[in-house]
Amino acid sequence: MVGGGDVTGEIEKLYVAVPQVRNIFYVMGKIGEGTFSSVYLAVARLKSGEDRKFALKHLIPTSHPTRIAAELQCLTLAGGEDNVMGVKYCFRKNDHVVIVMPYLEHDCFVDILHSLSFQEAKEYMYNLLKALRRIHQFGIVHRDVKPSNFLYNRRLKQYALVDFGLAQGTPDTQIELLKVLQAKKQGSCSQSNLHTMSGNIPVPREVVLPSSTKQSVKRHWSHSQINPGNNGKEGLLGGSTQRSVFGERNFNVHSVVPEANPEKKIKPSKITEAASRKLPARKSVPAKNTSEGVARKAASTGPTSQTCECYARDQVCNICLARSRQVAPRAGTPGFRAPEVLTKCPNQTTAIDIWSAGIIFLSLLSGRYHFFNAGDDMNALAQIMTIRGSRETVQAAKQFGKTVLCSKDLPAKDLRALCEGLRQVCLTPIPVPEYDVQKQRTALQTRMLENQDGWFRDETCVTPPANTSQSFNYTSPPAYSMHPGQCAPNGWDKVPDEAYHLLDRLLDMNPATRITAEEALSHPLFINLS
Ligand code: ADP
Ligand code: MG
Ligand code: ZN
Repeated sequence: MVGGGDVTGEIEKLYVAVPQVRNIFYVMGKIGEGTFSSVYLAVARLKSGEDRKFALKHLIPTSHPTRIAAELQCLTLAGGEDNVMGVKYCFRKNDHVVIVMPYLEHDCFVDILHSLSFQEAKEYMYNLLKALRRIHQFGIVHRDVKPSNFLYNRRLKQYALVDFGLAQGTPDTQIELLKVLQAKKQGSCSQSNLHTMSGNIPVPREVVLPSSTKQSVKRHWSHSQINPGNNGKEGLLGGSTQRSVFGERNFNVHSVVPEANPEKKIKPSKITEAASRKLPARKSVPAKNTSEGVARKAASTGPTSQTCECYARDQVCNICLARSRQVAPRAGTPGFRAPEVLTKCPNQTTAIDIWSAGIIFLSLLSGRYHFFNAGDDMNALAQIMTIRGSRETVQAAKQFGKTVLCSKDLPAKDLRALCEGLRQVCLTPIPVPEYDVQKQRTALQTRMLENQDGWFRDETCVTPPANTSQSFNYTSPPAYSMHPGQCAPNGWDKVPDEAYHLLDRLLDMNPATRITAEEALSHPLFINLS
């Protein structure tokens, strides 16, 4: 949580903007800040005399009223059960809206990633899938599934999916306002319905509304009294210092163009849109021959008429950047976007949330977060290809009506080898001579402790020096090399095949065959959890 001068000022502004808040809550500090909201930790005294913590989400005043109301409707109808965050109350004054939710103290994903046991990782995934099953049953596509939107209290084993700020409805959604949003997007924007929302928006669930204790509440609390821990760190403090597996690198994905198959015809978007986009000009090249010029021409003569310049370069070329864009929903966070989102497939389903859950599982299994870290969709797709294979990507894209061209054949990676390699699980057997296993083991461990720097890789694991393998025979079962207390296998030495099978099914490139949340919950990996 963040307190201090700036935040005190912000809290004061919140009190002024929505005075009802001050009557009931003492706002202690900020726990999250996104593009569309600020989230505060607040305390209120209940009728019973008990003090309870709440999370107050103050939406930016420029949010569309229907968008706000839809977020609220997702929380009220689908929330409060199966690890989906519920809502207690909502305040509105003019264009300011504050959503009051139960507060769930939570761990920052990146802080605990390396200390989680395999069992915990499995439980995390099970609970995430439970939340997804719940919202998908309501016809809600979350669109922004990622660790900072899935709160996890490790100690209490509590979980909550939050943030329906980008949610969309399936064609048969039960969330009426998501239908309204959909209709609005398709048709022209109808008049704002803000005025149909009255003062405080009642919530059709047992509303725990603390008694109005007015200013007296404030005196009972000080910032030093409650330490809510590390919550919201990811959003607030700029995230992890961890390296992602990928940086910004291009793997020669040439382009994504709508599939020429007439059966799955895709309406090309307006060429003028591409032509009017600003392109970075390279100053050293004469104006006539700049990529900008070429790109403009490419755009004006149609998206596929030019040979692109990406090959063997570490950036997506301007021709590709200038290709006409298809309008399709692409909200979300780049590293978690499904292939069909990256390629702007117009009919996106709940399967996009499953893909994001797969990316989280990939992080858990590999110990890397963020796993993918591309800034644009083309590079993000290229990064996915390096893991899932280029042919597989091309094939899958064809299924959902897109043509992906890739100049290089990238084989699909074996998921176990990839994750174990990245996690550097202590799987390397310590070579020990068969004649004296125990003596040798002790000797090796002593040497490890003496030479930690040279022996430790990625701070957690020990690997024997390269030359030892020649001088010893391997024994069975392998002796796991460990620095006491630092490299407890925590189950990571025995990750069952089922885990990688589920990962493979979550990260199915084709949304039509990708596993659903419901199916995933009965996957053999979770046999003793259900
Ligand atoms: P945004 O749309 O701005 O991302 P979120 O709803 O995701 O807003 O909330 C931002 C952050 O605030 C979350 O990542 C989380 O750290 C914190 N947060 C949100 N809701 C709660 C809650 N009910 N309990 C505790 N923390 C919460
Ligand atoms: Mg969020
Ligand atoms: Zn190109």
